[in-house]
Amino acid sequence: MAEAITAPHPLAPEWLRPLTDSAALERQLLPADAHRDPEGRLVLGGVDVVSLAAQHGTPLYVISEADFRARARAFRRAFAEAFAPEAEVDVFYAGKAFLSTHVARWAAEEGLCVDTASGGELALALAGGVEPSRIGLHGNNKSDAEIGRALEAGIGRIIADSLDELERIEQLAAAAGVAAPVMLRLTPGVHASTHEYIATAHEDQKFGLSLTPASIEDAGRTTGGNPFAGSPAWTAVERALAAEHIELRGLHCHIGSQIFEPEGFEVAAAKLIGLLGQVREVHGTELPELDLGGGHGIAYTEADAPRQPQEIAQALAGAVRSASAKAGIAIPRISIEPGRALVGPAGVTLYRVGVQKDVQVDGPAGETLSRRYVAVDGGMSDNARGVLYDADYSAVLAGRQVTGEHVLSRIVGKHCESGDIVVRDVYLPTTTARDDLIAVPATGAYCHSLSSNYNCLTRPAVVAVKDGASQVLIRRETEEQMLGRDTGYLPGG
Ligand SMILES: *Cc1c(COP(=O)(O)O)cnc(C)c1O
Repeated sequence: MAEAITAPHPLAPEWLRPLTDSAALERQLLPADAHRDPEGRLVLGGVDVVSLAAQHGTPLYVISEADFRARARAFRRAFAEAFAPEAEVDVFYAGKAFLSTHVARWAAEEGLCVDTASGGELALALAGGVEPSRIGLHGNNKSDAEIGRALEAGIGRIIADSLDELERIEQLAAAAGVAAPVMLRLTPGVHASTHEYIATAHEDQKFGLSLTPASIEDAGRTTGGNPFAGSPAWTAVERALAAEHIELRGLHCHIGSQIFEPEGFEVAAAKLIGLLGQVREVHGTELPELDLGGGHGIAYTEADAPRQPQEIAQALAGAVRSASAKAGIAIPRISIEPGRALVGPAGVTLYRVGVQKDVQVDGPAGETLSRRYVAVDGGMSDNARGVLYDADYSAVLAGRQVTGEHVLSRIVGKHCESGDIVVRDVYLPTTTARDDLIAVPATGAYCHSLSSNYNCLTRPAVVAVKDGASQVLIRRETEEQMLGRDTGYLPGG
């Protein structure tokens, strides 16, 4: 295996360990069924990456079906066990992380429901054969057409994001002569990301309905000490309860993404359950459901150590039990909405190495250092997360034995943008050469779904691997398909 680098490069971030055991790193970041064959080629779902690249081209998104299914099962089991016997749990796969008809079907076969966030995602979930009653529709600006489509299909829940939308759902449901199953998306004043959460009274964001009364005079005004009186959330609850064609199922929140610690979820759950208790007190009715959203974190690099689903589930179950007891209500039926945590680690992107450059850089002590730039055949069009979120990734040489000395490298794309960075800092073998295959782990979520045609690059294919076979889930876009949208473009002209 790889030779040890003992001293970190002065330009390397603190978390990037000098490479001592690339096999351990691969075990941590690659899908569970990944390994190296005797020739040193990375094997995903029983198919080696050299054949995958030869058959399907690069860049290529590869998804391990077994890894996705195992994660789906693990979440479902962990939450079912933690909340049993009092409450059942529905796991909604957040399709925006990566949705195709096949993946929607995998999720359904593993007993998951599917969340969608637009008419297009809803169409994919339906085309994948997901039972309509097991589909949810999100979005802060749903069109009447999208709401109408959801009602017509008879989906399980529409998560209403505003008072305006609630009114339109009522009107559309009335016109269709149906009762719309609705959850209310609330902003509990908890933002969580990675290791911390912050609590605020007023949330400065576009999603959801606030729990905070609009003015101090409103607080507690209407019903003897109701702390939610006058808040958009309370108004929405009352209007939904009064609406003839809305069946109010319960409350929803989604507090962030790439969350590692359970505290933020616990605080949000307690707040929403407080509101459920208040609804019971004022209206004598217990809303049956509570949706705690997604955002469960994954490992993108060796620095990330996400918790097992059991740990998050146990912590949440504890918080929900004690808050429900305090609020005097039965524990509601729970739902969660993991996206990234199910499909992120199941995905790997394969690239081919092109041009390399050693660039002189001023070091922290004024010395002159060198950084190797390794350009690959994709970039920000297939993985926008570096540009959007400054996201860190890791990478490994995938098509052959990893031997010899390593050098601090930066993997960049081929776009006309200096921020077009795929992997900011990684140690790669000094022997890395043109046409070598590079695998970037943890790219199953928010890579294909955020992909673009920037610089008129065609979007890569997505293939699933399982038991030694690969299957195309989404075809590689052809130049003709891409340029054919231009009304003056003549193929071959
Ligand atoms: C994005 C989103 C999710 C999924 O988030 P992940 O970080 O992928 O788990 C779940 N619920 C809602 C409402 C979302 O917007």
